[in-house]
Amino acid sequence: MKKFVKFMSLLVAGTMLLGAVGCGSSSTDNGGSEETTAEASGAEGSGTASVKTVQEGKLIWATNAEFAPYEYMEGSEVVGIDAEIADAIAAKLGLEAQVENMDFDAIISSVTSGKADIGLAGMTVDPDRLNNVNFSDTYVEAGQAIVVTTDSDIKSAADLSGKIIGVQRGTTGDEYVSKAENGVNPASVERYGSGTDAAQSLITGKIDAIVIDNEPAKKIAEASPDKLVKLDETLTSEEYAIAVDKNNTELLDAINTALQEMKDSGELQAILDKYLNEE
Ligand code: GLN
Repeated sequence: MKKFVKFMSLLVAGTMLLGAVGCGSSSTDNGGSEETTAEASGAEGSGTASVKTVQEGKLIWATNAEFAPYEYMEGSEVVGIDAEIADAIAAKLGLEAQVENMDFDAIISSVTSGKADIGLAGMTVDPDRLNNVNFSDTYVEAGQAIVVTTDSDIKSAADLSGKIIGVQRGTTGDEYVSKAENGVNPASVERYGSGTDAAQSLITGKIDAIVIDNEPAKKIAEASPDKLVKLDETLTSEEYAIAVDKNNTELLDAINTALQEMKDSGELQAILDKYLNEE
């Protein structure tokens, strides 16, 4: 009952606030303010989801479910940190989360072309990407790491020069080893659709190292403990966020509010702890 009362008072406060906004925006009209207020509170007060999405009632999130622990397949289901974040945000917006699994380098265009509402894929905020999409507030810190075979002579980033390096196509790891200004001079860069495919090539000796985000790097090494190891060094400093179409700032704002609530309540940390601090 107490909770219900609190909810109701929040609802009333929210409606009053919307009313106030309505009044403010129409204050230059002559006598029209009352109508505008009623419309505003009526429209916003009745439903939980006032944001526009690709499919009514749904929050479609584009991802590449080959990036444990952020997103990966468990049977036919996409699970992981980002899957839980998608569900939590969707619930807060009164929507149902629906995943679209695709290649990582297709995610941004799926958002800009209106196939998906958001890109949620351990995606680093990156200046090039910001030309095409908006990013939400960030939700986790990350960085690139190196995976090698246990008998490798590569001990740090300095040893990567002259080597064949595997990356996931179109990722910040790809960018890091491919851009001359980062000081890595690989013999060649082999681009894979997933870290698992790169790991296979590393085990069979086709490549000398993988550069990939630190937590997925840990997972790759853990999957083949007798063959692969993740080096301790972190090569970059990155932050993950949710990609949203530039034309849908209402959705961006709603996501940021939801994320902030998840940060304040400890829900986000609980999700991260569940997947990241298990050793
Ligand atoms: N964080 C990296 C990037 O944004 C890799 C993301 C991924 O492969 N899912 O490019």
